[in-house]
Amino acid sequence: MIKKLIRRILGKKNPPPANTEPVVLGPKEHGIDLQLVSANAIRVTEGLQQAGYKAFLVGGAVRDLLLGIKPKDFDVATNATPEQIKKLFRRAFIIGRRFQIVHVMFGQDLIEVTTFRGTTSDDAPKDAHGRVLRDNTFGEQHEDAVRRDFTINAMYYDPATQQVLDYHGGIADIRSRTLRMIGVPEARYREDPVRLLRVVRFAAKLKFNIDVATREPIKVMAPLVNNVPAARVFDEMLKLLLSGHALACLQQLRKEGLHHGLLPLLDVVLEQPLGEKFVRLALASTDERVRQGKPVSPGFLFAALLWHQVVEKWKAYEAAGEHSLPALHQAADDVLDAQTDKLALQRKIAADMRDIWAMQPRFDRRVGKSPYKLLENLRFRAGYDFLLLRCASGEIDAELGEWWTEFQDADGPGREALLARKAKKPGEEAAAPRKRRRRSGGRGKSAEGGAPAGGQAGPTGE
Ligand code: ATP
Ligand code: MG
Repeated sequence: MIKKLIRRILGKKNPPPANTEPVVLGPKEHGIDLQLVSANAIRVTEGLQQAGYKAFLVGGAVRDLLLGIKPKDFDVATNATPEQIKKLFRRAFIIGRRFQIVHVMFGQDLIEVTTFRGTTSDDAPKDAHGRVLRDNTFGEQHEDAVRRDFTINAMYYDPATQQVLDYHGGIADIRSRTLRMIGVPEARYREDPVRLLRVVRFAAKLKFNIDVATREPIKVMAPLVNNVPAARVFDEMLKLLLSGHALACLQQLRKEGLHHGLLPLLDVVLEQPLGEKFVRLALASTDERVRQGKPVSPGFLFAALLWHQVVEKWKAYEAAGEHSLPALHQAADDVLDAQTDKLALQRKIAADMRDIWAMQPRFDRRVGKSPYKLLENLRFRAGYDFLLLRCASGEIDAELGEWWTEFQDADGPGREALLARKAKKPGEEAAAPRKRRRRSGGRGKSAEGGAPAGGQAGPTGE
């Protein structure tokens, strides 16, 4: 209270900062198509406004609307408090302990409503590197605007008046396709290093240029991402990977020097020639699915990103005399453990990854009841898609993937025929060509020794 009072008094003495008053644009100037705005988002802004509060669409939704893109979700900002918001809607839930936000639900549709936040005070608690730990006061709309990351993310749109409120030159930056941090970039990255990852995501996704002053500090400040809690890094990485532009994002991360040393995942993904083709294919197909509006499983994606690291360790355990299957499980454990330090993989995602990896050797068993059992596995589809990626990348023989495609589609007799086709060539199951390759790879003896009978193959990794 006292601090606020002092600030107010000081504020009166000094001229107010230039952008406490927004530039207001009408529909002819900004050209937003109201048809692209979700009816539920409008229900929320109207509901709040009818109760006497201010309410606007904000952030990414306004940015996307200005670019003529249909927003994937809508955030609302208001001067109503969470309790006041909650009273206005039938299905409204207050979320979060420190800074509460409200989820207003309409069926499956979620509108996130946030009370305007106040400016970050100088004495907000910080970690040793300057990252702001807690900073949760409510504030005025212009204070809310200044706390946002980029100028293009700090505009407010009122669907009722169809006016856009622009506090930081966002419209000009949309027009010149420029990503510009609000305030002093160094200070903003220090406060919250996740913004380093956000720059990259938006630049790659929107194909915007990064303003020089915003870009310059990125390389130097990159190590700050190390101090961000792993769960937040994970959330941001997931947004990046599911943006529909994952490949472009990862390339940009590399360009900005952000992948090095700070995210073990990215070191592996981008610098392992062995897995590069595989990862490229995985990301390209993910991007394609996202663009087509199809669901993408994070477990599948991370399983793909880390596969070649698993393969490498799998081989090493086999070479040390471990049997193939336990070797694979050990490799999976190692890879997952190494990741969780920096990038906390949620338990469900880690479990999905493990399932997909563990299923891979089972595709080699094309005898007896095994293929039928595998077909019944709940995660079969994911495992099979993964297998196809391995084939497409040249890691394993394409014939294996083709066989499974046929086997799935075939009727009873067709399946028996496919099995018989395999059975006709005893000793030459799927594993056979790979055994040959292993021998020529020069580490024949121990790898051979590790592979149990019955066609269980270890990884090839070529
Ligand atoms: P997308 O369309 O990819 O969701 P977005 O801009 O909506 O992009 P969100 O992560 O959903 O991104 O965040 C919503 C808004 O909240 C942003 O537009 C920005 O105004 C603000 N914001 C989010 N994260 C930060 C941050 N780390 N620092 C400052 N402002 C942030
Ligand atoms: Mg958003």
